[in-house]
Amino acid sequence: MTQILIASGNSHKHEELARLLRGAGLEGVELLRPAELGLGTPPPDPVEDGSTYLENAAIKARAFSEWSGGLPALADDSGLEVDALDGAPGLRSARYAGEKVTFDQNIAKLLAALGDRPPEERRGRFICALVLVRGGDLLFETEGTCGGIVLHAPTGGEGFGYDPIFRPDGETRSFSEMSELEKDARSHRGLAFRAFTEHLRGSPLVTAGSGGPPRP
Ligand code: IMP
Repeated sequence: MTQILIASGNSHKHEELARLLRGAGLEGVELLRPAELGLGTPPPDPVEDGSTYLENAAIKARAFSEWSGGLPALADDSGLEVDALDGAPGLRSARYAGEKVTFDQNIAKLLAALGDRPPEERRGRFICALVLVRGGDLLFETEGTCGGIVLHAPTGGEGFGYDPIFRPDGETRSFSEMSELEKDARSHRGLAFRAFTEHLRGSPLVTAGSGGPPRP
């Protein structure tokens, strides 16, 4: 069994990545949450000061892999880019309206910034970078993108973040009106994760074991 550490303290991400892995039907891989390692030191909280999603994901993955003593660590970094706003909220998607804000506050700021622009001026995309690192080595990286438009008002009750105001291309519903599985089939994170699991199939990491320390 290959153990891969989820490089995040966010329980929402743990659940989402575990669900995506189950959906991929990949035998022989176990995703570990940081708390499951039972280490004496708290998990790292590195400054994400990269200039791309991939750089930020790699910063997180490196920090967690080193903290664990060498387990492969999987990190994602994601955001929403809106063309009419020169790519904002972008890398600052989680903190768009300020440092400690709610999803609703970020949504309110984005809707105000777009005002009553018509749909063709509300185009944007979610991007998800996924990076696997072991120690100092970058083992795999990929990016998934999902284009769509920002709606005029929130709709639906599922999901998180900007889901209630984002309608992916070719759909009549926002991400918040979809089930988790429907969102996974279309989303930037689902795409990136499927590329990751395809990479893992047959990779030496899966066939030869993790190379990390034994689980306590
Ligand atoms: P991070 O990847 O933890 O840095 O957070 C990225 C931020 O982008 C989240 O806090 C959300 O605001 C937004 N975001 C990323 N992916 C999604 C998604 O699938 N739905 C809605 N919002 C998202």
